[in-house]
Formats: sequence, structure tokens, C-alpha cells
Amino acid sequence: MDALMPTYARLDLAFERGEGPYLFTTDGTRYLDFGTGIAVTALGHAHPKLVAVLAEQAGRLWHTSNLYRIGPQERLAARLVEHSFADRVFFCNSGAEASEGVIKTVRRFHYHHGNSERVEVIVTDGAFHGRTLAGLAAGGNEAHRAGFTPLASGFVRVPYGDLEATRAAVTDRTAAVFVEPLQGESGIVTAPQGYLAGLRSLCDEHGILLALDEVQTGVGRTGRFLACEWEEVSPDVAGLAKGLGSGFPIGAVLATERAAVGMVPGTHGSTFGGNFLASAVADAVVEEILSPGFLAGVEQAGARLRDGLERLQNQHPGVISEVRGRGLMLGMTAAVPAADLYARFREHRLLTVPAGGDTVRMLPPLNIEHAHVDETLAITEAVFRTFR
Ligand SMILES: *Cc1c(COP(=O)(O)O)cnc(C)c1O
Repeated sequence: MDALMPTYARLDLAFERGEGPYLFTTDGTRYLDFGTGIAVTALGHAHPKLVAVLAEQAGRLWHTSNLYRIGPQERLAARLVEHSFADRVFFCNSGAEASEGVIKTVRRFHYHHGNSERVEVIVTDGAFHGRTLAGLAAGGNEAHRAGFTPLASGFVRVPYGDLEATRAAVTDRTAAVFVEPLQGESGIVTAPQGYLAGLRSLCDEHGILLALDEVQTGVGRTGRFLACEWEEVSPDVAGLAKGLGSGFPIGAVLATERAAVGMVPGTHGSTFGGNFLASAVADAVVEEILSPGFLAGVEQAGARLRDGLERLQNQHPGVISEVRGRGLMLGMTAAVPAADLYARFREHRLLTVPAGGDTVRMLPPLNIEHAHVDETLAITEAVFRTFR
């Protein structure tokens, strides 16, 4: 590990094989993976259909660049357009790159319309939009920024979920409001009902764009294809990534035709963006997630997990104080040190993900079966009992 730049607080734990919701270490120990590589492996490990699609594409063609047409990329874009608010899609390789693309799209929209003073993006406390210099500037985590200034400029920050503060922050320099429908990294922070709809009206009133970061919430994670569908709100632009390739790196910027108007040839690009391998896998992922009954299954599994966690919270109020989230994007607020709770889950061979605000996240594969939820709840009960 010495050859690696030590940017991660890596555990001394290595897996060599995965199967569905399970991971196996080099010595054969089995873990239940309710972290999915931070909301990434949406269909679990070694999904037979994805393995077949990747192997087939790998034997045919990997990469040509966006100098040429890419069939699987066109198919994936058409599928995303058919099943979302979007008319146009740009492909990239990560969530941070999706955020960059979102920010560039909203600025370029106003530039196109001759309003080049409209460059400011209203962002929120606790936001996470990735680790690029613009992502750090848009994000709400001061520690992430330390030592990396000067960052990209033109971001105005307001409290998350606060419609009135957002309204007060709009000026004739505002280009867009950019928020997560449900904040992930800062600890599964939910906004009040009506927040997104309120932002939508506010943006319409002022001729500015509503941009959503659906990198974590999107592609079925909350039980809808996009989390904004819960509020029946259509953004102008949105970023996707994490679950989109179920582990194959790919991100996307979704936009309406109106919002994408400035993104003409030469304005943006990504060498690897949407190459044959990534697009073929992501197309199979999205096809699966949009297949009949799949999202209802996410909702049902999410409800079962949430009900079970709430029952355990009532029985062990000294261990967790709250359960939050939607679908299979759930967070528990630890009433004991969150790092201890996270470690004890791992000692019981259940993988979870830490988050801000003393939160431990459960982000299982979206195709989880009820038996896996019950197995997790049994482990969770055993873990909670160790705190007595
Ligand atoms: C993870 C995440 C990102 C950054 O994604 P990377 O692929 O790590 O660059 C951006 N926004 C949100 C909401 C995320 O959860």
C-alpha cells in the first residue's frame, strides 16, 4: 500500500470476489455488502447479465473516442431520454465530472442568451458535488477545501431545505440553483416536503435553471428512477453517476433541450466519456432498473429495511436516535460514537458506509431480496445488543 498516495483512510481489508449482495475476502470470509462501494454496485456483484454484456463488448470494441458515433452510447442516451425529463445527455466518467458538466451547462445557457452576467450558482450547506475545484467550491465541506484554494468562483451558499433563504439569494447574476434532492455524504439529510417544487417555481419566476445532483439519489436508489420524481418536479439539468454503471465508471449530464441550448460543438468534451464498454454496461443496468416491477421492488425492500431499523431503534434508543432516507438510501444517526457503530457492523460482517452528522448509511444493491434485508436486520439487532 506504500506506493499509493495516502488520500484514503483505507481499512486493512481486501476482497477478491463478489456475488450478488455478498463479498468474499482473500481467506474466504463472507460479508453482506450494504455499502455497494458507496451506492455504486446497484445490481450487486458479478450480475450474470452485466458480466455477459461486458464480456461480449470487450471482445468486440472498447474505445474509439467521441470523434465517431458510438452505438451503445446512443442507445443509452435514448433510453435515459425516454424515461426522464431529459432531451439531451452528455456522458462522462464520474460524479465530479457530472457536476462540472451541470455547472458548465447552466452557465452556457445564459451566455447563449446574451446574459453573460448570470454566472452565479446557488448551492447549499452540507452539499457534496465531488472533489474537483468547482465541485469543492459548490460543496459545503470546509475541510475538503483546506489548502486547495483558489477554487472556482461564482457560488453562493444558503442553508439546505430553506426556500426563503434561496429566494433572498437570487440576484440578476444568478444562473441556477444546484442541490441534491436528498443529501448523501453529509448524512442522509432530507429537505422539507415541497422544497424541490418551491425551487422549481422560484427558478421559473426568475428565468434561472434548476439543476439537481442525482449522482447518489438517481438511477433507482430511492425507488424512483430519479429522486425528484417523488415530488413530481422536473429539473432543467441533472447529474448522474454512482449507480449508472453498477461499478463500471460512467457519469452523465441530463438536460432539457432548452437548457442544453448552449452546449454546441466544441464547448465540452471527455475522451473516455460514454465509451463502448461503459455505455454497453450502463445501458444494461438502466434496462434492468426500468424493467417492470423493479422500482416497486426497491420501494418494498426499502420499506422493509426501514421498518425493521425503526423497530430496532425503538428497542435500542441508546444506540441510534433516528432513521432517515428514502427507498434503499437510508441513514441512522448514531447515539453512540458513529465510528464504533460502523466498526461493529463490519466485525459482524455487514458493510455499511459512514457519512456526516454521526450517520451510518445502508445502501444495499437495488435488487436485494427480502431474505437479505432480514439477514441485515438480524445482524443489526446483534450489533445493537453489543452496546448494552
Ligand atoms: C459521490 C458524489 C459525487 C462525486 O462523485 P465521484 O464519482 O466521486 O466524483 C457528487 N455528488 C454526489 C451527490 C455524490 O454523492
